[in-house]
Amino acid sequence: MRNDLFETVGGTPLVRLTSLSNALGRTILGKAEFLNPGGSVKDRAAKAIIEDAERSGRLKPGGTIVEGTAGNTGIALALLGNSRGYRTVIVIPDDQSHEKIDLLRALGADVRVVPSAPFTDDANYYHVARRAAEAIPGAVWADQFNNTANWRGHYSTTAPEIYEETGGRIQAFVCACGTGGTFAGVSKFLKEKDPSIRTVVADPMGSALYSHIRCGTLEVVGDSVSEGIGIKRITDNFKAAVPDDACRIDDRTMIEMAHYLVRAEGLLLGGSAALNVAAAARVSRDLPQGSVVATVLCDGGARYMSRLYNPAWLAENDLQPVCKDLSFL
Ligand code: PMP
Repeated sequence: MRNDLFETVGGTPLVRLTSLSNALGRTILGKAEFLNPGGSVKDRAAKAIIEDAERSGRLKPGGTIVEGTAGNTGIALALLGNSRGYRTVIVIPDDQSHEKIDLLRALGADVRVVPSAPFTDDANYYHVARRAAEAIPGAVWADQFNNTANWRGHYSTTAPEIYEETGGRIQAFVCACGTGGTFAGVSKFLKEKDPSIRTVVADPMGSALYSHIRCGTLEVVGDSVSEGIGIKRITDNFKAAVPDDACRIDDRTMIEMAHYLVRAEGLLLGGSAALNVAAAARVSRDLPQGSVVATVLCDGGARYMSRLYNPAWLAENDLQPVCKDLSFL
């Protein structure tokens, strides 16, 4: 029995992607984070952030949690917050899928949709959230980008789960970064256990991590329709990361993989999960036959029906999947 909703977060299965693994001759494992109660990997960060704020006394009974989020952290904070009687104020940019915004409203969060703006602009959702928290007496700003309870939550749960489920027999871990919490927590833990495990950041176009890891610069090339991943600055959560390398995945590869995963694996996933799997597959090809590579299936595809799985939207963005096999890899 689980005593409350918080106890249902994590402990997700690590699933062998059968068809992909057979085709590659390497084992690709996906951590099924879409099975968390809020439907995404961000339940872990939200749980860690709320528990840390409770422990430090910043979050009091009946208190308010404020966050700027691409959606999943807000959904997680709202659900977990409701279960403990906290109010949530969620600031979300208007370029995110309407499914996530509708969901946040259904959960009773005070949703503030703001025009999408660069981080350097005061109108960016991150800064709007910080100011909203300052304006509400006693409110706690979750600050998922720089609140290191985020990566610590992955270090103490996601990472040991992956390590234990594979009996430590894992050659690489690959995943994309939104705040960097997942990658930092998992890469740090795995490297401490076994420095030979390869840790690779999967990066969408429009993100600066690839150039940061490869060349030490924050160069941005192109753009991406992916949601929740890609950063142009080094967050406090990413600072804890231990990356060996980075791998860039474009939108076409991500979309082809998303549709392959539905067809061949029975997995309807979000774009970041598909991008992670594509990156894991590419990284695995540089490793010997039989190697084991783990990644994260961040959220499910139902949140993106109007986009990734909508033929009209795919056509508008010139992203219709065309491959019947894995030739896009
Ligand atoms: N995928 C999705 C769909 C997300 O919402 C997020 C979080 N923004 C991530 C991946 C990245 O996770 P993290 O913040 O731990 O880097």
